[in-house]
Amino acid sequence: MFVERKIKDFINIDPLQTGGRLTEDARRMLVEWGDGYSVCDFCQGNLHEIKKPPIASFVEDLSEFLNCDVVRVTSGAREGKFIVMHSLARKDGVVVVDSNAHYTTYISAERAGLRVVEVQNSGYPEYRVVEEGYENAIDEGERIGEVVLAVLTYPDGNYGNLPDVKSVVEICKDRGVPVLLNCAYSIGRMKIDFEKLGVDFVVGSGHKSMASAGPVGILGMSEEFSRLVLRRSDRFKDKEVELLGCSVRGVPIMTLMASFDHVRERVKMWSREVEKARWFLKEFESLGFELLGERPHKHDLLHFKTDKLYEISRKVRRGGYFLYNELKKRRIHGIKPGRTKSIKLSTYLVSKEDLRIVIEAFEDILKKFDL
Ligand SMILES: *Cc1c(COP(=O)(O)O)cnc(C)c1O
Repeated sequence: MFVERKIKDFINIDPLQTGGRLTEDARRMLVEWGDGYSVCDFCQGNLHEIKKPPIASFVEDLSEFLNCDVVRVTSGAREGKFIVMHSLARKDGVVVVDSNAHYTTYISAERAGLRVVEVQNSGYPEYRVVEEGYENAIDEGERIGEVVLAVLTYPDGNYGNLPDVKSVVEICKDRGVPVLLNCAYSIGRMKIDFEKLGVDFVVGSGHKSMASAGPVGILGMSEEFSRLVLRRSDRFKDKEVELLGCSVRGVPIMTLMASFDHVRERVKMWSREVEKARWFLKEFESLGFELLGERPHKHDLLHFKTDKLYEISRKVRRGGYFLYNELKKRRIHGIKPGRTKSIKLSTYLVSKEDLRIVIEAFEDILKKFDL
């Protein structure tokens, strides 16, 4: 059976997808290494030490790219978070997280048997993480147990807000709490310097932001914590327990590797992407929509409150799906079907010409329904 993906030549503004589209090299790699366990042809026992294909040197390049002591390839950002939480977990353990955190942060904590204390955000319309809130949250965590980790989402997947990492790190360091920075939406888009940020752990997502087929991600950590997190099995002396002996033993790691040169170059263009996002949001707001999230905006993920679209949806027969259908007719993909109260989109690596088409499409749709 072969199933065609029918949106291939659409303009794609799905925030989940703009940073994960494959390079041509990655697409070729996908076919070349698609057979099961093909990356293991010459494995001596550890994925990150394989020399043919050159995974070992790739993992070294990754740690240089992140300016981070130790890196492992995981199946995604969530697996990275779980690995860290599970390693640090103890009875009555608590994780402090920003309230813009991704659902997988909560689920990782749940799976690791950790309780969660949230740092509130500033609420409508900017929903900023209140960095100083980590102080109180750690206090609260200490009252109910022992705070083993703080997580900061950088940026979050709802508003694209980039909080001030250093002030969170300062508070947490003072309290002796390690910090995990969730960079699912940043590593591969913008420069992330582990040392400079002063965090203890970082996770990234290959299929979200590194032009890779998933599931694949990366986990970076300090030398100090690697001794705990990458502890080896008693029985199988080579095998790292938290990785269950081996993580991405298949083609996704080959696509990550194939796109890496491209990714390394594209992060240098980040300021242009931010500029483009700001241009788009200004144009989009002039249609009567309102940005939710911080200003000035520093990321390509944009969330708009779209009252006008919601009003239309209440009048038309197809309800919320009218928007999806109107956009589909115009060959635009990426707005969640059924959604009209607010919409999320990404301008990342979408050309200005295409973004203009998107803006005009929305303008056209508003006109068509006479609002
Ligand atoms: C997408 C996303 C994730 C999940 O990434 P996976 O690699 O699929 O696990 C985690 N956190 C944030 C903030 C995200 O946006």
